[in-house]
Amino acid sequence: MAYQFDQTQRIVILGGGPGGYEAALAGARLGAEVTLVERNGVGGSAVLTDVVPSKSLIATAEAAGAISQAAELGVQFFTRDKSGTAAVPEVAINLAAVNKRLLGLAAQQSEDMRRTLLDAGVRLVVGDGRLDGPNAVIVSAGGVDFEHLAADTIVVSVGASPRILSNAKPDGERILTWTQLYSLHEIPEHLIVVGSGVTGAEFAAAYRALGAQVTLVSSRDTVLPGEDADAAALIEGVFKRNGMTVLSQSRADRVQRKGDRVIVTLSDGRTVEGSHCLMAVGSVPNTAGIGLEEAGVQLAESGHIRVNRVARTSVPNIYAAGDCTTYVPLASVASMQGRTAVFHAMGDIVNPPEQRNITSNVFTNPEIATVGWSQREIEEGVMSGRIYKVPLSENPRAKMMGVTEGFVKLFARADSGTIIGGVIVAPKASELIYAVAQAVTNRRTVDQLAQTFPVYPSLMGSVADAARAMHIVLQ
Ligand SMILES: Cc1cc2nc3c(=O)[nH]c(=O)nc-3n(C[C@H](O)[C@H](O)[C@H](O)COP(=O)(O)OP(=O)(O)OC[C@H]3O[C@@H](n4cnc5c(N)ncnc54)[C@H](O)[C@@H]3O)c2cc1C
Repeated sequence: MAYQFDQTQRIVILGGGPGGYEAALAGARLGAEVTLVERNGVGGSAVLTDVVPSKSLIATAEAAGAISQAAELGVQFFTRDKSGTAAVPEVAINLAAVNKRLLGLAAQQSEDMRRTLLDAGVRLVVGDGRLDGPNAVIVSAGGVDFEHLAADTIVVSVGASPRILSNAKPDGERILTWTQLYSLHEIPEHLIVVGSGVTGAEFAAAYRALGAQVTLVSSRDTVLPGEDADAAALIEGVFKRNGMTVLSQSRADRVQRKGDRVIVTLSDGRTVEGSHCLMAVGSVPNTAGIGLEEAGVQLAESGHIRVNRVARTSVPNIYAAGDCTTYVPLASVASMQGRTAVFHAMGDIVNPPEQRNITSNVFTNPEIATVGWSQREIEEGVMSGRIYKVPLSENPRAKMMGVTEGFVKLFARADSGTIIGGVIVAPKASELIYAVAQAVTNRRTVDQLAQTFPVYPSLMGSVADAARAMHIVLQ
């Protein structure tokens, strides 16, 4: 007889981003009575302001980049005037049209997700939710409470918002958070990006490819300080060669608007003047004032909700998923946590996400994709392993594509050859990393990976080459 889940469960979910959405679907599919409270739109920041718009913008930047690089592959663009003289056409970006397209894509995806939830039987309530103890949620709109929802299980997946610094307040016109970028009608003449983490680097690269003058202000030694050091150095080199100004070890102290200019004052007194400034200095969880601590839920000092591997908080029937938790802030992870929370609450089989198996990607050009243990951890002795790096310049497909930069790096246990991590810097590295992630997740060895046929010629061939080179000769 099939196992019967507790179908009398009332699950109330706060937030309809990837975490809340997946939790709601999982609950509905297992037969629970599911209510999802969302104050903006289904899909959350991931769909409406973060992942979908930013990656759609980057797709446009890639198209612009491909046009400017096409000449190297022998593609010429020119028009002829009446006298037959050839002239090179200008590549121009219609940012208003680009933004209309990407906001349209986001709205459509949000609507598709809303429909999927309704079809699955999830009840949607539009409003601000807050906990009323561990077994109830109150929903309000405009400060007026209008619904009290009793709950056996609560999943909090309220996401995060851009961090705002008191001396660099966004005005939505010239000083912007990433959620406000999509209201621009023209490419900024000079965009100053404060913050060189993933968000700052991605937008800086995209706007440079779209034709803006870009200055990236980084408080650290290199851009992308959290990434593999070789990958970060390579990307910084690409940024500089593409004409971006990178100010390393430069902390922005103040950002002010002066008419149609912005002035960024650095901590050493230098100033940078531009037409716009993007503040990309991290996020804060949306956990304040929603009754969490009153319900007994423990928060970290940063305001993130402490969760264990099955997304459970310090209160047994309250779970939390996504960017509001102490776990990894990625849409894919939020989804996984949302599903895990509900499977656990309803007694289904749970495979808690393993942090080491999480893939991540920086959508610069080339992209940086990563999985598993890092080179830094191996070199610091946190994990024992061997490191092997193959430059893409040796790859035949890369040569055909005109790709000269990038690499594949694999990490494997010295004794068994088990693959424990990897970094790929390449066009569409986000697609290529899946093979390495499969190997890491399933504890495959370098020999097993090397035995898998890559297409010839293909960028994936470099993954097989790296694995082959790491073959352990048994004594
Ligand atoms: C610019 C940018 C690009 C990114 N790109 C990627 C990427 O390429 N890949 C990737 O994996 N991750 C990416 N991320 C991270 C990704 O956006 C987040 O990890 C993801 O959105 C987290 O999902 P979530 O469900 O936790 O929260 P969210 O997507 O933030 O959703 C939370 C929802 O909760 C709602 N809410 C909040 N408080 C309440 C309340 N009290 N009552 C009712 N509703 C409430 C909000 O309105 C929101 O809709 C990116 C982030 C940024 C900033």
